[in-house]
Amino acid sequence: MHKSYNVDSDGYYGDFGGAYIPEMMYSNINELKSKYLEISSQADFIKEFDELLKQYVGRPTPLYFSKRLSREYNSKIYLKREDLCHTGAHKINNTIGQILLAQRLGKTRIIAETGAGQHGVATATVCALMGIKCIVYMGEVDIKRQAPNVARMKMLGAEVKPACSGSKTLKDATNEAIRDWINNPIDTHYIIGSVVGPHPYPDMVARFQSVIGLEVKEQLLEAEGKENPDYVVACVGGGSNAAGLFYPYLDDLKVNIICVEAAGMGIKTGKSAATSILGKEGVIHGSKTLLMQSKDGQITEPYSISAGLDYPGIGPMHANLFRSKRADFISITDKKAMEWGLKLSRMEGIIPAIETSHAFAVLDKKKFMKKDIIVFNCSGRGDKDLDTYINYFKL
Ligand SMILES: *Cc1c(COP(=O)(O)O)cnc(C)c1O
Repeated sequence: MHKSYNVDSDGYYGDFGGAYIPEMMYSNINELKSKYLEISSQADFIKEFDELLKQYVGRPTPLYFSKRLSREYNSKIYLKREDLCHTGAHKINNTIGQILLAQRLGKTRIIAETGAGQHGVATATVCALMGIKCIVYMGEVDIKRQAPNVARMKMLGAEVKPACSGSKTLKDATNEAIRDWINNPIDTHYIIGSVVGPHPYPDMVARFQSVIGLEVKEQLLEAEGKENPDYVVACVGGGSNAAGLFYPYLDDLKVNIICVEAAGMGIKTGKSAATSILGKEGVIHGSKTLLMQSKDGQITEPYSISAGLDYPGIGPMHANLFRSKRADFISITDKKAMEWGLKLSRMEGIIPAIETSHAFAVLDKKKFMKKDIIVFNCSGRGDKDLDTYINYFKL
């Protein structure tokens, strides 16, 4: 019998996933695990979630057929426009879902970790919307690098707390958030920003993001008379925008899946974030997955020009897609990604996030056929990256 590529009842995707957590975190995770499916399938939850996605986030986002790219690459190329979501990326789909869940669990305080600040902004946004106290942990180094997003979070009423240990970046912020949650198990919910962390987070976040793929099915049916594309393509940091697009297609083997990782300066340079190729099995932030680590198992610092892709692990769903060969993994250098950021801007009038630019660079690496329908997840817009683009191209 064919095994599903979705999560099993123990929270595993093949060899990966689970909940490798300290005893002190057990009660929080257990509460979430025992209630997330029940709560998120209740009629009033679904109604409020759908309404907010429609009226507040601006869904459904368009599935845009790109005539110019299709002509140049001799196939049928569609863009799923998550860049048009409120706050500029797909991340808000998940934070809306989790804030509704937190309310129904009776939580009055929200914590989150953030690297580039995108997830911090999406969390601060839904906390403002619901009038709930919000604390965002962020590495001291990232606070300096990502000043505009820090300002946004403050404007939205969130408290930004610096993580001053280790490399003072995302993984250290995550450690601080976990520490906070252990100390505040009753009133606090921890909103994780990607399909990472202990079960049930990867499954929960994938479900909230699955609206992306479910909309694509309907939109493609209308545009092409069939629900399934030949390829779905998305960039992978932790893997949430990819999981959202892939979700309804995971077990439909006729739909090819392409995951795009950041090669940074190049796979062999030591300055990269291509986790699938460079990573080994290990445990990070409560989940067994592939991660970049030294010989003695210490997590190594990833690098990418895009702050959203430089996480040292990938979600367990993606680790399994890699190991089982269900998905193709392609890594794209900073240089190629930046070129595609400019190309998409000039060809389509769409300035993509640098994360997103990585996905499009697949067009130069892989040959598609004329009849192929390819859906790219346009995960976010490039406003946050304008300085990086401008300095890079000396515009
Ligand atoms: C955060 C982010 C990503 C990477 O996160 P995933 O969980 O892998 O989706 C990709 N694109 C954009 C625009 C982001 O903000």
